[in-house]
This record gives sequence, structure tokens and C-alpha cells, in this order.
Amino acid sequence: MGIAVSPIQIDSCVSDFIGKPRKMLIDGKWVNAASGKTFPTYNPATGEVLAQVAEGDRADIDAAVKAARKAFDSGPWSRLTASERGKLVWKLADLLEQHLEEFATLETLDNGKPLTVARGADVPLAVDMFRYMAGWATKLEGTTIPISVPYTPGAQYHAYTLREPVGVVGQIIPWNFPLLMAAWKLAPALASGCTVVLKPAEQTPLTALRLGELIMEAGFPDGVVNIVPGYGETAGAALAAHDLVDKIAFTGSTEVGRLIVHAATGNLKKVSLELGGKSPNVVFQDADLDAAIAGSASAIFFNQGQCCCAGSRLYVERPVFDRVVEGVAAKAKKIRVGSGLEPDTSMGPLVSEEQLQRVCNYLDIGLSEGATALTGGKKVGGKGYFVEPTVLVNTKDNMRVVQEEIFGPVVTAIPFDDPEELMPRANDTVYGLAAGIWTRDISKAHRLASAMRAGTVWINCYNIFDAALPFGGYKQSGWGREMGKDALELYTQTKAVCTRL
Ligand code: ADP
Repeated sequence: MGIAVSPIQIDSCVSDFIGKPRKMLIDGKWVNAASGKTFPTYNPATGEVLAQVAEGDRADIDAAVKAARKAFDSGPWSRLTASERGKLVWKLADLLEQHLEEFATLETLDNGKPLTVARGADVPLAVDMFRYMAGWATKLEGTTIPISVPYTPGAQYHAYTLREPVGVVGQIIPWNFPLLMAAWKLAPALASGCTVVLKPAEQTPLTALRLGELIMEAGFPDGVVNIVPGYGETAGAALAAHDLVDKIAFTGSTEVGRLIVHAATGNLKKVSLELGGKSPNVVFQDADLDAAIAGSASAIFFNQGQCCCAGSRLYVERPVFDRVVEGVAAKAKKIRVGSGLEPDTSMGPLVSEEQLQRVCNYLDIGLSEGATALTGGKKVGGKGYFVEPTVLVNTKDNMRVVQEEIFGPVVTAIPFDDPEELMPRANDTVYGLAAGIWTRDISKAHRLASAMRAGTVWINCYNIFDAALPFGGYKQSGWGREMGKDALELYTQTKAVCTRL
């Protein structure tokens, strides 16, 4: 089966944007890379070059960090009131919303995801994130603390805390939700009063760069947000190691997360990490099985399986195993794989040739380990980076396809007999990002939610995200939480002030 890609009319503002080489944003100006180099970003539905982008490296990161430093230490940004800061973040949300269609198209072209998903999820969630965090700008408060100080008898003190921004933040984001990840990172940083150097993923830099234009249009002072596209080993590594950066926030693979931690040791900058996952999704025989089947299919196939929290290990109670797994396979067969711009596409291509190779390699490994593909199992022929949605059965807990993150539309299905036996198996992974539980037994659901070693547990639902709901990992899935008020902890620090009266 090959994918037919029909020519699609793209709005002129999008074709203008990709029609010329994109520059980087440093200190409020759009500039070429110091080296003059550019790199291509591809359309994963066709494998063709979509646009050329300035290739940031150490010198550009250095200029961007210095601009962010200046904006934080002495720029007008630090003198804005909390309310003025919040209004700017809110204005950015409004502008983004006004350009929803344009951003959705750009995201689909660069990442491959269905336009319906970019339009219905990525962009609105990004808008909501800016609005949610805009409200927090005026609510970052300290406390007054009665202190006793036993070694100064009779003395009185007035003690209080301030919550202050951490400073210059380096943010490195992945390619699976390019705009949304930029919003998850930028919104709490800006609401807190930090300044930022953002490095988008080399596979998908376009929506972050377009967002940079809206950031300037909203009226953020120069240097508050700098956007430097480039490769991980060069621009990303230089940002993670830079001595003038106070904090680094990273979303990506666990492997690169470790490199970030090492790079941060020079000046002991603060680090937050949102990393990989291999999330268990557990279906009990007492569940609403139709909902569990639909939810389990979407848990793995949403976004082509390129979600760190994908429900990639499906555990099903034995008496309903065949029904549930066949149900998920039937859903997989109905998925329409195609170019994200086609209106009836429900699964787009993987993001890159490299990612396609990685997923196909795992399919080979799984089959050679003895797994069987109930459906899917192969690359889709023709242009673009398409792979079939796949359900693997005859899998065992110790197989590589059950232990390692595939980051594609591949689920492994395994039966279990009782919850006592299941829980150690569900937790038997180095990761701990998310988990799903499908049952009508509410006390069982909450007992298991407590026993899951994961940062998010979804009960009778999956992939439910909200700007107010913290998200992040246990174990090797990360440090710190994105979204919700927990995210603000990562961008603020506490100062204690003590006065002798
Ligand atoms: P993936 O393997 O899925 O592409 P990565 O973890 O490699 O995910 O990439 C996530 C982000 O990390 C991207 O922006 C990438 O450029 C960046 N990155 C990759 N390697 C490094 C590195 N050594 N130092 C800093 N950033 C990096």
C-alpha cells in the first residue's frame, strides 16, 4: 500500500513563511546564524525539503544568552509589574488564537500530524497554556513566618519570603508537539518573570519561529525571548553548558536528559527534565469494554504513537484479552494513514526518516523475539515516513519491545490474571511517566492508581491534558512537573528576608 498525496492549496501566509529562509530571534532582532549556515526542515509526508532555517551554534547561543541575561538583569522586563507581565502573556495567547489556522497548517507541514489534530488539540492547548499561566503572574506570593530564634532571647524579628524568578532559562524542546512544547516551556517562564533562550527541535523549528514573531508583536521587550534553532549536539549542548544560564528545562529522550544533567554541572544550573516513557495501560474485565478498546487504541495511536506518555504496554485481564486486543486491532485497521493535510487522515507520517528507521527496527526486533503482529508490522511503501499502526501479541515482559520506548504506533499486548500479579509487572520499567486503568470498580481503580509508580494515572480515560494539571515523571521519566502550579516551582526561587525590629 502506498500513500497518495494530492496537491493541497496552502494559505498564502503559510507559503510565504516557508518560502524564504527563516532567521533566528536574538535580542528582538531576526538574524542569520553567525556562521551563515542554514539547515533544511522536511515535510515528513513527502520527504521533501519544506524550508531552510538558520543553523544556530555556540556563537549564536552565546549571543542569545547574553541578550537574555541583559534583559533579565537590567532590561525593562524586570521593572514591569506582575500585572503587566501577565497581560503580555495573555496578549500572546490572543494573537496565537487569531492565527490558529495558520499555526495548525504549519505544524502539520513540519511535523506530519493530521491537521484536525493540530487544529483541535495542539494550537488550542497552547493558547490555553498561555492564558492559564498569564493568570499566575499576579499570584506568585511569599509568606510571613513567625520565627523564634532561640539564641537571641528577647529579640523580635519580622520574617517573610519572596518568590522570585530563577533568571535566564535555557529551554530545549522536542519535535512531537512542537508548538505545544514551546508553550509548556515559555508560559510559566514568562509568567514568573524569567527570560528565555529557546531551542526548538531541528526536525520541527517552524511554529516556534512563527511564535517568535507573535511574541515581538505582543510587545515583549527585546531579549526576553530568544529563539535559536539548530542541532542538539551543537546549539543544544552549548545552551545546556552555558555558564550564564541559571536553569535548563528539557523535554526529550532519557538518553539526552542524562547529557543535559552532565552539561549542567559546570555552573550547577537548575535542571528540569521531561523524558521518555513506556506506560502501562491496564484493562480489567469489569471495564466498559467499548470505551476501554477505543481509549486503548487512542492511547497508543494518537500522534502516530509519538507521545512520551503513549499507552504502549497494554495489559488485559485474561478472560477479555482476545476481545479487547482484537477490538484494538480492528480500530488500528480502520485508521486512515496519510498526509496530515488530507481531511480524512487520522494518522500522519512519523516525523523523520530516522524515526521511521527506529520504529521499523523495533518491529524487526519484536518479530525476531517471537512476537506476532495481529495487525500492521510494516513500513508503508512510497514517499514519506509512514508506518502501519501495529498491535503485537505473544509478547513477554522481558522482550525489548516491551521494555524500550519505541516512540511509534506500536502497542504490545499481554494478558494478566489478577491485580496482585499485575502491579509489579506494570511497574517493571525504568520509566514512570503515565499509566491507564480501565475498570468500573472505583476502589480497585484508586488502589491501583496509588500503587502505580507514574506521574500521571488516567482512570477510564487516556491522554487527558489540561494547563492546570501537572505532568511529569517518576523514576527515569524526569525531574519536576510541567503545567499546573507545580510548573511555577521550576521557574521561581524563594528568598527569605529577616528584619530585626
Ligand atoms: P529524539 O531522539 O526523539 O529526537 P532528543 O532527546 O534527541 O529526542 O531531542 C530532543 C531535543 O534535544 C531536541 O531539541 C534536540 O535537538 C535536543 N538535543 C539532542 N541532543 C542534545 C544534546 N547533546 N544536548 C542538548 N540538546 C540536545
